[in-house]
Amino acid sequence: NETALEVKDLKKYFRTAGGLLKAVDGVSFTIRRGETLGLVGESGCGKTTCGRTCVGLYNKTGGQVLYRGKDVHSLRGKERKAFTKQVQTIFQDPYASLDPRLRVEEIVAEGMRNHGICPSAKERRERVYQLLELVGLSKEHAGRYIHEFSGGQRQRIGIARALAVDPEFVLCDEPISALDVSIQAQIVNLLVRLQEERGLTYLFIAHDLSMVKHISDRVAVMYLGTIVEITTSSELYAHPAHPYTRALLSAIPIPNPRVEEQRVRTVLEGEVPSPIDPPPGCRFHSRCPYATDRCAQEAPVLREIAPGHSVACHIV
Ligand code: SF4
Repeated sequence: NETALEVKDLKKYFRTAGGLLKAVDGVSFTIRRGETLGLVGESGCGKTTCGRTCVGLYNKTGGQVLYRGKDVHSLRGKERKAFTKQVQTIFQDPYASLDPRLRVEEIVAEGMRNHGICPSAKERRERVYQLLELVGLSKEHAGRYIHEFSGGQRQRIGIARALAVDPEFVLCDEPISALDVSIQAQIVNLLVRLQEERGLTYLFIAHDLSMVKHISDRVAVMYLGTIVEITTSSELYAHPAHPYTRALLSAIPIPNPRVEEQRVRTVLEGEVPSPIDPPPGCRFHSRCPYATDRCAQEAPVLREIAPGHSVACHIV
């Protein structure tokens, strides 16, 4: 399986008034073509910064991101232009990311114009209509403005806009977090269908493990700028190994009451420490129920505990 994205020891720091904020601090993973990697963690864990740095929306502080073997942060000229067509982003809040002064038709067609797709206005309009139908809207919506739509409809417009340039890879930056639960499943199903039809590759960011289960082939769990566990979606849910992953999973309501009884609930205590001055040793030690003296001093490295299942914890 060909690798689409390869992330090696990626770092992204921000200078703030309080000090150096280490939002992403040495993250490595790969995504194969046609695959979905879910990237999950609490707010402030660095997942959005990581995703945006991977697709070149942010400069990096260190490490490397390769898209189909090319360094994303050194692309220039034609290669850069090709990358901005191949790789698209769907944002969490379509209301903030879509221009309220433009009609839907113009929003969806913007990328096409930039990349010279369908040069004639008539063709472009036809393609916009097709795209709106593809995402469950219709050509009647083309002349309206973004404020006239519901959250779920806006996200459909955001998806049509991303797909308008026929990308290969889509960063889904918390695309369902702001939506009602009843709408979330519809958008996830739409993204799954579009992936199957178009062979898309997704990096899918969410703060809640239950949201990524259905869509992800593999899942990476982030905590304070680092990945603490990465494996297939089924393995993560069946055999979560890192204490943080187990705590996140125990917070998901389980429909079967008999399973609920058997589950040992791990309650996460304490605040997430600040990424400006992360604790030494394991970054999770201030909240981990299994922490030992070693955990406070020595940072665990991500290592494979079973084929395709890596965990950063001294006791696993
Ligand atoms: Fe907990 Fe220690 Fe494992 Fe960190 S390394 S998760 S503190 S047991």
